[in-house]
Amino acid sequence: MSFSDDFMSVILSMESVLIIFFDEENGCQLVCNKTKLDIDATKSESWVDLFGDIVFEEDKESFFVFTNKISNGMRGNEDFVAISDDRVGVSVRLKKKNSVYSYHNIVCYISKDAGAYINKMTIVASEMTAEELYRLQLAQNVTNDRTPTMFIRVANEIVRQHPEKQYALVQFDVAKFKAINEMYGEPFGDEMINFFIESLNVLCTSNQIFVRLTADVFMIMLPYETSQDLLDFVEIVRTNLTGYKNIEYRLVFGISYIKDVNENLRKYGDRAALARQSIKSNAIEYVAFFEESMKQNVLSSKYVEDHMYKALENHEFVMYLQPKFDMGSERIVGAEALVRWIQPERGVISPAEFIPVFEKNGFVIKLDAYIWEEACKTIRVWMDNNIEPVPISVNMSRAHLKNDKHLNILDSLIEKYGIPKELLEIEMTETIEGDEVTQGIIKLKERGFTLLMDDFGSGYSSLNTLKDTQFDVIKIDREFLQNFVGSDRGKIIVDHTIQMTKSIGLDVVAEGVETLEQANFLIGSGCKIAQGFYYAKPMPVVEFDNLLDENRKK
Ligand code: C2E
Ligand code: CA
Ligand code: CA
Repeated sequence: MSFSDDFMSVILSMESVLIIFFDEENGCQLVCNKTKLDIDATKSESWVDLFGDIVFEEDKESFFVFTNKISNGMRGNEDFVAISDDRVGVSVRLKKKNSVYSYHNIVCYISKDAGAYINKMTIVASEMTAEELYRLQLAQNVTNDRTPTMFIRVANEIVRQHPEKQYALVQFDVAKFKAINEMYGEPFGDEMINFFIESLNVLCTSNQIFVRLTADVFMIMLPYETSQDLLDFVEIVRTNLTGYKNIEYRLVFGISYIKDVNENLRKYGDRAALARQSIKSNAIEYVAFFEESMKQNVLSSKYVEDHMYKALENHEFVMYLQPKFDMGSERIVGAEALVRWIQPERGVISPAEFIPVFEKNGFVIKLDAYIWEEACKTIRVWMDNNIEPVPISVNMSRAHLKNDKHLNILDSLIEKYGIPKELLEIEMTETIEGDEVTQGIIKLKERGFTLLMDDFGSGYSSLNTLKDTQFDVIKIDREFLQNFVGSDRGKIIVDHTIQMTKSIGLDVVAEGVETLEQANFLIGSGCKIAQGFYYAKPMPVVEFDNLLDENRKK
């Protein structure tokens, strides 16, 4: 009798529970209805063989993400061993004896020795109870409501039943989920979310309830004793929910303690959301607790919105220039225009604080045009004063591409100041290009502008974007550079990125060069132009003029 047949018959005859033990000495043992079987569960193929036929087609992907994790763990795979969680799980539809599929929770409990190596795993599969099934269905519906009534009702009930306990709200979402949808298609995004829901359903116990708030935002209410409990929980969710189909994505979490159970839960939900949003732009952190200062951030965006029109009128927005250097000759060969808000009461405000707000409210369109004009004016002044001009690259928010107005603005600026087009270059961030955007970029190209792809290496589809790109120059992202140049493998990646970019005929500018070592490495890789604090910071135009003058005298 082949092993697989036997296994199948066991599975098909089981009522509800299947147990697989793994321990280092005895290997893997399957115990079900007192039958023992040996399987080589360290091989992912064994799992496919065993479960291929009984897992519901649509659930196979999530299931094998789960079994891969387990077989990795059994092989003592470093990545897995490092994970601090004590269980992983998934819920999938399995075929039962009567050939009907029904939802099962499959949970793998992990125990580790003192050296943190896995020495035992117990996998339990059990059919979902009616209540669990109900919760799963509940969660599969998006509420699109910040105070989902069903969730609130259940949450309040739980809190009332356990007045002795403390509760917290954990919110999480996928950073740049939109990019995943754009790149892999919405059906894939949906599948991934479904995988989240099924996993959460297993991970959350009956007093940890979760809800899907919007497309990719989930919220969980759970009891805790110490903050560490909450961080442990986040870690479990994070390790279980990342790695779907080996796609790279990042989950970000925000936590808010429910301080007063009599208050509206919405308040705490909003706080968890603020905490979550506070780490969106931070590539290293992935979890934050709510702090009062996060409210300040909201106030500050309100401040920004209240003051922006006046500020534009009063010329509080000032163009700074950061020189671009030819690293070999150390000559200045260009500049990037970067806006600063010089506010009479608050001093210099960095664009990181206001550009995101302006991107949302559309004001960035006005501000960009203002900076473009400043750049053109500056070039004109250079020409009038017999200073040999260098090209200035200006930033263009993607918001412009919604229509063609920016084309007219650019054309009329070029005309008004009578400057050669080559001297005004345009920087735009890389993302996956929808049709509309591609068209917009083609039009800019047709008008003869030089296009620089900003922040290359920071997004999801760096290589994809290069395939049919209209851009002329790639600007290697600061974080990409700094994260990679620190290690040997990273260096190889940056090196090849530069080679590849050049061999398809694009120029390369390295951004955020901070050390001589980085500069030397880049030169060695064939990158000639750099912009970074090692050479110079962004500065007011007068200072730039002086620097340019000195640089040319050398
Ligand atoms: P960006 O376009 O990627 O600009 C480069 C940023 O990196 C600048 O930050 C610059 O000061 C900084 N930087 C350059 N070299 C180094 C370095 O060696 N080390 C470090 N740590 N940083 C370096 P800044 O000026 O704060 O601008 C931030 C972002 O704000 C810009 O990123 C750009 O996305 C946006 N921005 C700035 N001005 C404008 C504008 O006029 N229009 C639009 N739409 N966005 C703008
Ligand atoms: Ca830029
Ligand atoms: Ca950049």
